[in-house]
Amino acid sequence: MLDSLKKMFSGNEADIPVNTGSKPDISRVKSAELYEKSKTYFPGGVNSPVRAFKSVYGTPLFIEKGDGCYIWDADGNQFIDFCGSWGPLILGHNNPKIREKVTEVMQNGMSFGAPTALENELAELIIKNNRFVEKIRFTSSGTEAVMSAIRLARGFTSRDKILKFEGCYHGHSDSLLVKAGSGLVTFGETSSAGVPKSFAEETIVVPLNDKTAIEQAFAQFKDQIAAVIIEGIPANNGLIIQDEEYIHFLRKICTDNGSLLIFDEVITGFRVGFEGAAAHYGITPDIVTYGKIIGGGLPVGMYGARAEIMAHISPDGGVYQAGTLSGNPVAMAAGIATLTELNKSSFYKDLNTKAQEFVASIQRFATARNYKFKVFTIGSIFWFAFTDKDKIQSADDIDASSMEKFKIMHRELLNRGIYLGPSGYEVGFVSSAHTKIELEKAKRAIFEALDLVFKK
Ligand SMILES: *Cc1c(COP(=O)(O)O)cnc(C)c1O
Repeated sequence: MLDSLKKMFSGNEADIPVNTGSKPDISRVKSAELYEKSKTYFPGGVNSPVRAFKSVYGTPLFIEKGDGCYIWDADGNQFIDFCGSWGPLILGHNNPKIREKVTEVMQNGMSFGAPTALENELAELIIKNNRFVEKIRFTSSGTEAVMSAIRLARGFTSRDKILKFEGCYHGHSDSLLVKAGSGLVTFGETSSAGVPKSFAEETIVVPLNDKTAIEQAFAQFKDQIAAVIIEGIPANNGLIIQDEEYIHFLRKICTDNGSLLIFDEVITGFRVGFEGAAAHYGITPDIVTYGKIIGGGLPVGMYGARAEIMAHISPDGGVYQAGTLSGNPVAMAAGIATLTELNKSSFYKDLNTKAQEFVASIQRFATARNYKFKVFTIGSIFWFAFTDKDKIQSADDIDASSMEKFKIMHRELLNRGIYLGPSGYEVGFVSSAHTKIELEKAKRAIFEALDLVFKK
């Protein structure tokens, strides 16, 4: 199998014959039955909205198991998975080292609501290998971590307003479910029912990659902005890579104005490198948040900062934040097992090289065919964009109508055993469990799907 694949792809992507045939849809009988039932239990049949397949064809696949880079659904269909539980599974599914550590720790009970040595162990792994945090606090999700980081910034600066960017996602806490109104610098408009207008008025929303907007915001709200929050590398609304120079500009304007810079690294932390996007840009944020990978598939979030800032957190300081299951021993065990692997030399080099070869080949294929298609990528993150723009640096650069093409691609890929997150705005992830064999298979499926998307 591998040899024949090699023959097909080791040469020039331009020589691959055009695929003209759709495949029949995979069987989804069992998933459809489960979905009918789940709709009677949960709004939209799901416990997190994007899982509902609203932006792609069909209804959600119910997943039964995962192993390495593969998942299997309730109908027994097998997929090479590039969603990775939305990012946490950098070591793939059901990694034996994580599983063994978790089952070992579970033998001693699952929660105490009292400190355990495991919390120290995970904290030590992070703090000793990270220049950006001196003290940390574990939470149970990324949302909680970011929500708490915002409260900390407000408590530390005694200011109320925060500034966020259109096209960045920071979880679902009230202050951050806001989107830009009309105008360059605006108070946010709530992007969810149920968020009080008065909350949204404390959040200023500006476009990414726009220095004037930031300067104007700091002039207009002088001495009122507690923090600027940005995703280390915006990766929740496409992959909107910012220029390094722009990130340094943000650092400087925050410092000049006594505002804190919060790097939300829930998706980029331990993904683009052990020290995340901050190290990638050579930036020292004031507060950093992590999630996803840090728990190795179990629910963990974290925020951290230099000791002087963290001293404001209760019980040392006046900013209250707590959690019944925070630092849960089983979740800590998964984090320890995961980060121990990531901390090994050449882990990121190997993963990123493999991922970059994969996406470069896909881009060469699309370019050779003159398809209006770009793969934006960094490290082991990639985003398929149906565009001919060379750069996408703000949410406005994304053409919503191009998502129709993603829909077709998504269906063709499912029918070829490739699982991407069910939305064209979501990025994909390569894990260390994807071998070259599976990446070759995935490439072949992607080439075929692209031919069908762009079929004349
Ligand atoms: C996923 C994500 C969050 C929210 O984390 P949850 O664990 O889903 O609550 C926040 N910020 C960023 C950048 C994320 O990618």
